[in-house]
Amino acid sequence: MPACVASNRYNIGSVIEFDPQLSPVQLSLPLYTAPVDRRVRIYRENAWPEGAPSPDVMRTRATRLLRRADAGLPATARSLSRLVVTANRIPSVTLSRPDDRVYTARVHWTIVDDPEFTALFTRALSGGGFMRTRIRELLDRASQRIGPLGIYDAAATKSSHEPRHIDLEAVYQSALTHLPQPDRGRGLKVTWGRKAIRKGGSLRLGSLRNTTGEIRLHPVLDDATIPPFVVEYVMYHEICHWVAPPLTESEARRNGEHRVHHRAFRALEALYPKAGVAQAWIDKYIDTLLRRAVA
Ligand SMILES: [Zn+2]
Repeated sequence: MPACVASNRYNIGSVIEFDPQLSPVQLSLPLYTAPVDRRVRIYRENAWPEGAPSPDVMRTRATRLLRRADAGLPATARSLSRLVVTANRIPSVTLSRPDDRVYTARVHWTIVDDPEFTALFTRALSGGGFMRTRIRELLDRASQRIGPLGIYDAAATKSSHEPRHIDLEAVYQSALTHLPQPDRGRGLKVTWGRKAIRKGGSLRLGSLRNTTGEIRLHPVLDDATIPPFVVEYVMYHEICHWVAPPLTESEARRNGEHRVHHRAFRALEALYPKAGVAQAWIDKYIDTLLRRAVA
């Protein structure tokens, strides 16, 4: 299934749009979507905020926003032809009118399910004006509420994976030894993530939940054909997120840095002896991993 939802009125394009102007591609684990639809693109993990809900949850929220806006529109109103949920570092909402009949909208992920925004959005679509200042306030409020850690939906990511090949705890202990101060990375919980992704879905090889100190690796990594240093690198990357946590929105803006993969993070990550080789391996075999993850 392609990562988009289409009905007779709406097309939800890519779930998260990567804006190279605002989020330059940096070394990071890739978050790929398969090229099954021209609207589906390839994204880097750094375009996906650590705290953002999974793509499925995001798509549900975007669909809900469209339905609610639709329900509030008078019959004479223009339709919304495209809604793009954005994940740019600087949150924004734009509404444009490519022709007289339709609107296209770009809405930051932090605000998609905000009821007040839904009302303002519907008002704008009905020709009632775009309440710029109020929307700005909602975006600011949303950024503060989610903080650096976010609102990840735990229930959606429960794993049923039975370990076959890799001892996660051993990988974790080994990865720790590459930190300049290994103690700073101790005490984390390491588990396998949810197994299945859908065809055309995205693959996140590792994640860290800062609120609970839990690292999850994707079960596709539990395979004898994957070099051990690749698995350890993914683990190390996530440990680095714990040691060098995300910046706040304002810190990142002030320094012109990526909020999650900021300079201090990248410096720490670069200490892993085979970081470059591991990243190259992942880039080379990501399609294979994706196929296995779907199977
Ligand atoms: Zn990362």
